[in-house]
Amino acid sequence: MQLVLYNTLSRSQEVLKPLRPSEVGLYTCGPTVYNFLHVGNYRTYVFEDLLRRCLRYFGFSVRHVMNITDVGHLTSQADEGEDKVELAAAQQGKTAWEIAEFYTRTFLEDSKRLNLLAPDVLCRATGHIPEQIELIKRLEARGLTYAIADGVYFDTSRFPGYGRLAGAAHQEGLKAGARVEANLEKRSPNDFALWKFSSKDKKRQMEWESPWGRGFPGWHIECSAMAMKYLGESFDIHCGGVDHIPIHHTNEIAQAEGATGKPFVRCWMHAEFLLMGKEKMAKSFGGFIRLQDIEAKGFSALDYRYLCLTAHYRKQLEFSFDALEAARSALRRLRDRVRVILMESESVGTRPLPAAARERFRARLADDLDVPGALACIWDALRPGVLTPVESRAFLEEIDPVLGLDLIQTARPEAAPPNIERLIRQRDAARDRKDFPAADAIRRELEGRGIVLEDTQQGTRWKRRS
Ligand code: AMP
Ligand code: ZN
Repeated sequence: MQLVLYNTLSRSQEVLKPLRPSEVGLYTCGPTVYNFLHVGNYRTYVFEDLLRRCLRYFGFSVRHVMNITDVGHLTSQADEGEDKVELAAAQQGKTAWEIAEFYTRTFLEDSKRLNLLAPDVLCRATGHIPEQIELIKRLEARGLTYAIADGVYFDTSRFPGYGRLAGAAHQEGLKAGARVEANLEKRSPNDFALWKFSSKDKKRQMEWESPWGRGFPGWHIECSAMAMKYLGESFDIHCGGVDHIPIHHTNEIAQAEGATGKPFVRCWMHAEFLLMGKEKMAKSFGGFIRLQDIEAKGFSALDYRYLCLTAHYRKQLEFSFDALEAARSALRRLRDRVRVILMESESVGTRPLPAAARERFRARLADDLDVPGALACIWDALRPGVLTPVESRAFLEEIDPVLGLDLIQTARPEAAPPNIERLIRQRDAARDRKDFPAADAIRRELEGRGIVLEDTQQGTRWKRRS
């Protein structure tokens, strides 16, 4: 079965055919580390993680590169304003390096709890200044740049096909966005900074020498430079949120293709927004919710991951605590079911895969990552009586690494604390000798401690009263 993905660039679904047989080069834009991430950002990262797991499931090995933006992302999209990391440093009385380090660490901790697979290469913009300068030099040599008072800019009028990724629908938004804080020296509002000069009257913490003057890279150049360094001048898949289509990714293409004359990325994939009310969740809005905020309310990161799985990545998803509650209870029910399957199938050696259920599951994923559809197949297949316990177990082992919910690990019965275990054994012994009053007394004793017993064919199970 072939994996079909929607390509923003061609605006159509395409069969994935990697440049190198069986290895997919995947680049995903990472966070700007000046603040905590919100769960909206993580919707995009969960989508990218599902894509990566899915690629693996379809037999591809994946080389995944993600950047960390620790310099050059300015407060305005129009290359104006302050550097977000330097601004946060000034506000918090820390160095820019400390700010970047702190928020990178919190991002990586959150990622672990969400079960996001670590990228093969995690690269920082500040660690790749020479590569970015080299790329700007190549653009300069091809006559695609010009310098004005505050920096070196990309001349979009000299790059045919500029804006192809965004298409007509986005062109207007692009122009409107660029008009907001137009730099009058720029030749066109679409032109964007490759290298910004440090201001004469304000000392920056992060700045470097360059052939054009002391300064720092523009935000977009890092991704073109690092993607090409680690994945080659042309590679397979590049992802991000839909907000990156009209500016950041459009500019990444111009920089890379302007320098090499080769197609940069074959397939562009974009995740739709997580909404708060009717608005995109964003760092600057009041409805900014962090992973820690939902954990403080008793939800787990995996509950949120499950919520992300319930919507197709190209559809907007509205965040609410009611929706999260529904996701949590669905995940609990799924784990309960998994627990039963694990107990029923424990001692079986060979595990034949249920072919029909597996085909349906694969077909949903092959159809542009229809994860909600794949989830529905799982619920269907795992209903009691549909598959034998052994088949259910085999199916579970197949789907668990794709969803990344750790179903098998988290559903394994918790070992009872020793004192509880002792009482359960005493009660089993009482039942064996048919001393039911003694067995009942122990059951009541355990109930008093919040432990409920259930007698099954596989033996006595226990759980904490919910
Ligand atoms: P940033 O740190 O702003 O560059 O964002 C990191 C990633 O999160 C980018 O890929 C954005 O497209 C994505 N993103 C930002 N806001 C949202 C949102 N509300 N829903 C989904 N993805 C988002
Ligand atoms: Zn990027």
